[in-house]
Amino acid sequence: MKCALVTGGSRGIGRAICYELARAGYHILVNYRSNEVEANHTLSGITELGASGELLQFDVANKEDIQQVLGSWLEKNTENHIEVLVNNAGIKDDGLMMWMKDEQWESVLKTSLDGFFYVTRTVLNAMLLKRYGRIINVVSLSGLKGLPGQANYSAAKAGVIGASKALAQEVAKRNVTVNCVAPGFIKTDMTEGLDENELKGMIPVKRFGTPEEVAHTVGFLASKGAGYITAEVISVNGGLYS
Ligand code: NAP
Repeated sequence: MKCALVTGGSRGIGRAICYELARAGYHILVNYRSNEVEANHTLSGITELGASGELLQFDVANKEDIQQVLGSWLEKNTENHIEVLVNNAGIKDDGLMMWMKDEQWESVLKTSLDGFFYVTRTVLNAMLLKRYGRIINVVSLSGLKGLPGQANYSAAKAGVIGASKALAQEVAKRNVTVNCVAPGFIKTDMTEGLDENELKGMIPVKRFGTPEEVAHTVGFLASKGAGYITAEVISVNGGLYS
């Protein structure tokens, strides 16, 4: 069975990515942290598409949790190959750096940057042995441009971009590609508190994007035909910045 692991697959962009990869024929491993109801909703959607999947609950910010849950899944599923890994789980906890608490800095860095490192390292060896893999990291406009009030989030996403470019060069000869997708403003729970009417004025496309529009780009990078694209960052931001 060919599998795709999507971290933070219970809601928002991650859910749309799960559906996109399910349509591409993958068995979907839907990771989530705590929202089991929404994770089951994603799983039902996958089944409705005629595909299969399963839930894998672990906290990407906790390396022991990753080892215990994902590590044991890999041990028990030696016949099944994770061909596609999408590091999508992320949180934001904004504030001006002057007043930013240790906990705000650490939790955001741990989720995006440490999460990328520990999850990817866990599945990488099997991809290298199989000589095939697609790793796609969901970063952000904030990691490219830097946004005020998001020193933690910008640092985390910029860190993932740097690490992706390094890793891409390490594994390219084994047909493993590593790319990033950098969304701008996308309609999900994460942007719920933002005023779209006010912000859309500065977006050339004049609207927020949809999770499906991000998922479409992830699906493209996950496809076999994208094998000559690696160490790349593709923006999905309505022309806001590139
Ligand atoms: P969202 O609606 O808030 O969903 C976040 C998802 O990540 C949920 O599935 C959540 O699981 C999961 N998650 C959070 N922390 C986790 C952890 N420690 N371990 C495992 N799963 C965890 O967010 P979104 O807008 O879809 O964002 C998805 C990704 O896109 C993030 O990396 C975000 O930084 C990035 N992004 C979003 C936007 C935007 O405008 N929305 C823009 C740029 C980049 P639970 O349901 O269990 O909580």
